[in-house]
Amino acid sequence: MSEPKVSEEMMSLFKRRGFVWPSYEIYGGAAGMYDYGPLGFSFRNNIVEIWRDLYKGREGFTEIDSEYVNPAEVFKASGHVDKFADKITYCTECNAPWRADHLVKGVCENPDTMTEAQLDAAFVEHGITCPNCGGKLGPCSDFNLMFGTNIGPGSARPGYLRPETAQGIFVNFLNLYRYNREKLPMGVMQTGRGYRNEIAPRQGMIRMREFNMMEVELFIDPENKVWPRWNDMKDEMLTLVPNDGSGTFQMTAAEAVEKHIIANQALAYFVGTTKQLLTRAGVDPTRLRFRQHLEDEMAHYANDCWDAEALLSYGWTEITGIADRGAWDLTRHSQFSGSDLSSFRKFDEPRETECEKIKVNHKLLGPRFKAKAKAVADAAEAMSPSSVKDGKLTVKVDGEDIVLDSELFEVKLVKEKVSGERLIPNVIEPSSGLDRIFYTALEHSYDKDADGNTVLHLPPEVAPIKVGVFPLMAKDGLEEIARKLCEDVHTHRAEAYYDDSGNIGRRYARMDEIGTPWCITVDYETLEGDTKGTVTIRDRDSKDQKRIKIGDAPGIIDAMLSGKLCFKDL
Ligand code: AMP
Repeated sequence: MSEPKVSEEMMSLFKRRGFVWPSYEIYGGAAGMYDYGPLGFSFRNNIVEIWRDLYKGREGFTEIDSEYVNPAEVFKASGHVDKFADKITYCTECNAPWRADHLVKGVCENPDTMTEAQLDAAFVEHGITCPNCGGKLGPCSDFNLMFGTNIGPGSARPGYLRPETAQGIFVNFLNLYRYNREKLPMGVMQTGRGYRNEIAPRQGMIRMREFNMMEVELFIDPENKVWPRWNDMKDEMLTLVPNDGSGTFQMTAAEAVEKHIIANQALAYFVGTTKQLLTRAGVDPTRLRFRQHLEDEMAHYANDCWDAEALLSYGWTEITGIADRGAWDLTRHSQFSGSDLSSFRKFDEPRETECEKIKVNHKLLGPRFKAKAKAVADAAEAMSPSSVKDGKLTVKVDGEDIVLDSELFEVKLVKEKVSGERLIPNVIEPSSGLDRIFYTALEHSYDKDADGNTVLHLPPEVAPIKVGVFPLMAKDGLEEIARKLCEDVHTHRAEAYYDDSGNIGRRYARMDEIGTPWCITVDYETLEGDTKGTVTIRDRDSKDQKRIKIGDAPGIIDAMLSGKLCFKDL
C-alpha cells in the first residue's frame, strides 16, 4: 500500500517549504499526526475565513468554541460509545493491526457496510492475508475510534476527546436557542480539532488521528425545510451521484429538489454552499461531485445524506458530509440529560385544543394544607398528568415532597386556547474536514510549468503569500525601495514576502512553488528615464509581466485580491 506519486511529491514539498511537518519528527513521529508550518497555517486560516464569510457573513450564523474533552455521557447519548467503531483484524503471525474493510476494498462491494462474519468469510473466500507478512488474518471485531481519558484523578468521571465538534453545539442547544431569541432557523458553527484513533492512518493528510473540522449545525422546523436565500442558490449547477444507480449527472439545485433527488430545499441550499466553499478554496469543480449515501450506508436516523467527494490521487475521497439528521441529536440529548431540548412553534392564530390537565379539589385541599394550600394547588396543576403514579401525585413545595391522594385531584379533559406548540428541531449539518480541503486544494492546484518547475495555481484568496517583492539586485538602492514597497503592500489580508537572494528566475520559481499569485520587481528602470517610479508586476499563471507605478501597487494588489480587477486588465 504505497502512497501515490503526486501525494509523495507534494508531501515532500509541504515539508520543505513549511506547509506541514510530521509531528514530533525528532522523536520518531506518529502516523496520522502533522503540525502546520507558517505557510500551511496561513493557507488553512484563509480557508476558514471563506467558511466564515459564507456562513457567518452571508447567513448570519453564530460561531462558538466548546470543550475538546467531554464526559462519557455526551457520547453515550450521541451513539459514539456504542457505534463509533471500525472493524479491526490482527495478523495471527506478526500481530499487525489492519482495518478490515480496507483489506476487501475493490474485492467486495460496499466494504464499510459488511459485518464481522462477512469480512471473515471474505478473507477466506478471496485468499486475503496480512499485507505485511502474508500471515493468516484473525477474526474481525469492533474497534472504537474515540480516545478515552478521565476527567480529574481516578476513573470516577470517564471522558473522551471529541471525535467531532458537533456535540458541543447540541449540548449547548438551550443556551444557543435563548441567545437566538428562541427563533428558528438557527445556524451555529464551530471549527476546531476532532480526534479519532484511526486504525491505519496511511493516506497522508486524508486520514489523521488529530484533525481539524469546520461544522455547521442548522436547527430547522421539521415541517418547513426551506431557505430564505434559496433564489440565490437554485441555479447552482451540481454534479450529483444519487443512490438509485442512475449514474453521475449535472443538474441545478432547483431541479434536484423538484425531482426529489435531494430531500429538501434547505439541504440542497447547503450542498450548494459546500460547492462554493470548496471551489473558492481551490478544489477543481470538474473533480468534485456530490454522492448520495447508499440506503445501508446512511445513518439510521438520517433522512438524506450527501458526501462532497473530490477526485484525488487516492481516488474519490469524501471531504464534506452534508446530512439531514432529523430530530436524532436533540431527541437523544433530551432523553439522556432529562432537559427539554425543544423549540416553540407559534401558530398563525391561537388554536383551541383539548388536553388533559390536573385539577385539584380546592375544598379538600384548603383544610388539609392550610397556609400551604395555594402553593400545593399551583404546583400540582403545573404538573403533567403523566406524573400521576399509582393514582397519586407527588408535588414539591419549599423543598418538601408532598403526596396527594386521588381524592385531592383529578385528571380532566379541558379546552384551552394555545398560541403554539413545542417540537424538536431537525438538524441539517454540513461537516467539513479542513485538512482534507487543504490537501485537495493543493493537489488540484499542483502543476508543472514548461521548465518543469512546480506551480501551485491556488486562488489568490487562499494563497498563503499574496505577493513577492524583489529588488533585481541587492545593491544600488534597489533593495531599500523594494523593502519599503514590501512594507506598503503587506497587510493582514495581503501577506507580502521580501526576497533578494539568488537570481530573479529562481525567486519567481520559489514563489510559484508555494502558490504566490503575483511578484513585484524593483529594477534599474525604477530609478531613471521614462519608467522612473515604476515596477514590474508578474502574474503566476500566465507568467506575463506589466509595468505599474510603484505607488499604485498596494491598491492594485487589494483590487485583484477582492476580484475587482484582473491582471490582464492592468
Ligand atoms: P464524519 O463525521 O465522519 O462525516 O467526518 C466529517 C468530515 O471530517 C469528513 O467529511 C472528513 O472530511 C473529515 N474527516 C473524518 N475523519 C477524518 C480523519 N481521520 N482525518 C482527516 N479528516 C477526517
